[in-house]
Amino acid sequence: MSDKEFNPFEMAQVQFDKVADLLNLDDATRELLRNPLREYQFSIPVRMDDGKVKIFRGFRVQHNDARGPAKGGIRFHPQETIDTVRALAMWMSWKCAVVDIPLGGGKGGVICDPHNLSMREQEAISRGWVRQMAKNVGPVNDVPAPDVMTNAQHMLWMLDEFETIHGGKYPGFITGKPVGMGGSLGRTEATGYGVIFTLREALKRLNIDITKTKAAVQGFGNVAQYAIRKFTEYGGKVIAVASWDQNDQCAYTFKKESGVDVDELLGVTDRFGGIDKVKAEELGYERLDGDDWLRQDVDILLPAALENQIREDNVSGINDGVKVIVEGANGPTTPDADKIIEERDIFLIPDFLANAGGVTCSYFEQVQSNMNYYWEKEEVLEKLDTKMTSAFEVVYNFAKEHNVFMRDAAYVIAVSRVAHACRDRGWV
Ligand code: GLU
Repeated sequence: MSDKEFNPFEMAQVQFDKVADLLNLDDATRELLRNPLREYQFSIPVRMDDGKVKIFRGFRVQHNDARGPAKGGIRFHPQETIDTVRALAMWMSWKCAVVDIPLGGGKGGVICDPHNLSMREQEAISRGWVRQMAKNVGPVNDVPAPDVMTNAQHMLWMLDEFETIHGGKYPGFITGKPVGMGGSLGRTEATGYGVIFTLREALKRLNIDITKTKAAVQGFGNVAQYAIRKFTEYGGKVIAVASWDQNDQCAYTFKKESGVDVDELLGVTDRFGGIDKVKAEELGYERLDGDDWLRQDVDILLPAALENQIREDNVSGINDGVKVIVEGANGPTTPDADKIIEERDIFLIPDFLANAGGVTCSYFEQVQSNMNYYWEKEEVLEKLDTKMTSAFEVVYNFAKEHNVFMRDAAYVIAVSRVAHACRDRGWV
């Protein structure tokens, strides 16, 4: 999350400027793409359970829609800022472009802490967000989805509000809906599975046998849980997982050398991915500091929490044995840390490629919703694997051919696709 020193939007612009130079983009295209096309900031009044009215701040940023309707999640987080949403909207443009789906980039948020809100209050915030945005979002211009601390239930409330306002059924308005209510099978698993599909491809190229690998994971939310499941299914072993402790307001790393068991940990985890420290210790997990996940003697690091986690001040803690970093979160690594990772020759699968499985499946969901015809789970996951594998291959081949860092390769491909779309439409 953003703090005084860290501004994710500045980071996204630093990353973009580097690529704009590499691509020799003209001034107009550069200016168009380094800022959002449109942004909305608004207040959401909510009558709380105690009878008082509280005003929540909401955002939606549409970074670019040259390739298709803006697409991206809505986050509920106490430290949400407009700059965080701007950065995430920009990353969505690159994400949709790198997996070559016909969607643009958007992101939304509300400053709130769902830990301290009843379901009724969260419903009111969800509906209030839609009431403010109803004219500027929809299946043909901007399609929201879940993100940090929002889930299928929030999406259904939002859909219901949108349909009430517009007087019709528009299941293509939003993705990440519950299965049976316009949702796609496989959407819940998609981001985490997608991360591991790209990891599997990377390990093949690096001649590393996945069954002999160990990983450490940061985060125990939706992405991390399904990534650990798929990685374990492929024969890998996760030995440490870090999660946020709401009571202590800090993170802890939970370590088990014999391997983390998702189902066992889920029994002692809240609905936000917070692991109960006392119960985890009873299950035989050793409790370490929050940052210790990245100091583990493992082959793979998988940050799957928030932005700004691998920084100049902690990157030196990465163990010499680490061969691959696969970014499940958006923006977990700062540009300073990136340089060091590149110098150390650690293979990096950048966020907007690694975690594109979520939006790819959202695209499948949108297609199914618009047709009102739903596919079997196997079909969804097979299509997801094909998309992720081919996107990885294109980026990997580019990086090899031009001898560049994977993040730069992914950026060059994504930014040039978006720039082309803007040029072809005659915008620049
Ligand atoms: N919030 C997810 C992301 O950051 C998914 C976005 C979507 O499905 O539109 O990629």
